[in-house]
Amino acid sequence: MASIFSRIIAGEIPCYKVAEDDRFFAFLDINPLAKGHTLVVPKQEVDYIFDLSDDDLAAMHVFAKHVALAIGKAFPCRKVGEAVLGLEVPHAHIHLVPMQSERDMLFSNPKLQLTDEEFRAVAAAIREAL
Ligand code: AMP
Repeated sequence: MASIFSRIIAGEIPCYKVAEDDRFFAFLDINPLAKGHTLVVPKQEVDYIFDLSDDDLAAMHVFAKHVALAIGKAFPCRKVGEAVLGLEVPHAHIHLVPMQSERDMLFSNPKLQLTDEEFRAVAAAIREAL
């Protein structure tokens, strides 16, 4: 069965899309640690990120870099942090989270509750900064 992220990429499940190319897809995390929290996923469905080929892993990070720079422009922060967990969804993904301090990267923090309108505005702001 396709992963939830493959179904998002296929357009079967809605998301707040930020960017896409032939190999990668970026969309907002539905339980954000901060406004701008974005997931970058390969279209190829691989569970463990370190099972990707060297080329795909490198290209995924270059794609994530462009998205991260746009997040930083849209949501000024000290840095955009990158994290890989993958314990919940078995489809490799990079979390990009705007940070003011180290604590902003704690996945045990309470998540933001954003409205549909707010999610749309966040995604649009990042897309405009790309
Ligand atoms: P992890 O696999 O531990 O890196 O966590 C998976 C992440 O995917 C969590 O931060 C979830 O909030 C996020 N997530 C799960 N389902 C969706 C979805 N349908 N749309 C956006 N984000 C999702």
